[in-house]
Amino acid sequence: AGPDPAIEIIKNRLSNVKHKILILSGKGGVGKSTLTSLLGHGLSAKNADINVGILDADICGPSQPRVLGVRGEQVHNSGSGWSPVYVKDNLSLMSIGFLLGSPDDAVIWRGPKKNGMIKQFLSEVDWGDLDYLLIDTPPGTSDEHLSSVQYLSEAGLTGAVIVTTPQEVALLDVRKEIQFCKKVAVPILGVIENMSLFVCPNCHTRSEIFPATTGGASQMCNDLGVSLLGNLPLDPLLARCCDSGADFTTELPQSPAVQQLHHIVDRI
Ligand code: ADP
Repeated sequence: AGPDPAIEIIKNRLSNVKHKILILSGKGGVGKSTLTSLLGHGLSAKNADINVGILDADICGPSQPRVLGVRGEQVHNSGSGWSPVYVKDNLSLMSIGFLLGSPDDAVIWRGPKKNGMIKQFLSEVDWGDLDYLLIDTPPGTSDEHLSSVQYLSEAGLTGAVIVTTPQEVALLDVRKEIQFCKKVAVPILGVIENMSLFVCPNCHTRSEIFPATTGGASQMCNDLGVSLLGNLPLDPLLARCCDSGADFTTELPQSPAVQQLHHIVDRI
């Protein structure tokens, strides 16, 4: 078989996207989708001229429509492709969540069908000119990753941001994720440690909910020669904002988590 004709189509489609960034995690539940949405808000808030798109490639667990507060919106297919849903003027989202009948519908697909969907997303969404396309992938290194990486590498993938908690089980999986990136030649932009610390809002005691017995993400990054982009604390208000689809960065701009986020955004 010759080269996949989709590659040329994807290259053309994404030629107006400056930075294409995969958001990865080793394990589920570490905050990858949350961070993707926060990075989307953070990058688009820097400047009204910065256009950001989010592709929710978590085919079996699309959570961006809820987290970004655009659940129930419709995507339209026109002559120039699928139009994403606009969260605000310079932040757009495409998710399989928009194509499911009900939010409770499960997508139970095998690899080839999932890959077909990713291919379709990458080749048919009409993003317009974007500065950043953030791709929220499922946890681990599955079919979706391999196909995203394969297509995006051809179209010029900027790199990957890896999200973890300080917990040893999460870090073990992140090490695998880093090996995966090295194997498929995806540059690692850095690691974000999420839920690093919890500061009690009443007594201000600092607690490590997920104790880092071996030095956490910072030690791991040192060992493996990758950069640590920053640490986000565990913040119940952040979880609440995500559940209700509110923009945490504008709701609580003074919170330590948002301050950290801006610091991370400046480093991407
Ligand atoms: P993943 O995409 O890695 O599976 P999610 O982003 O869905 O993880 O996050 C899992 C849960 O943890 C969600 O309910 C989310 O609101 C919550 N969460 C993520 N990061 C934080 C944080 N820093 N503080 C509080 N809750 C968080």
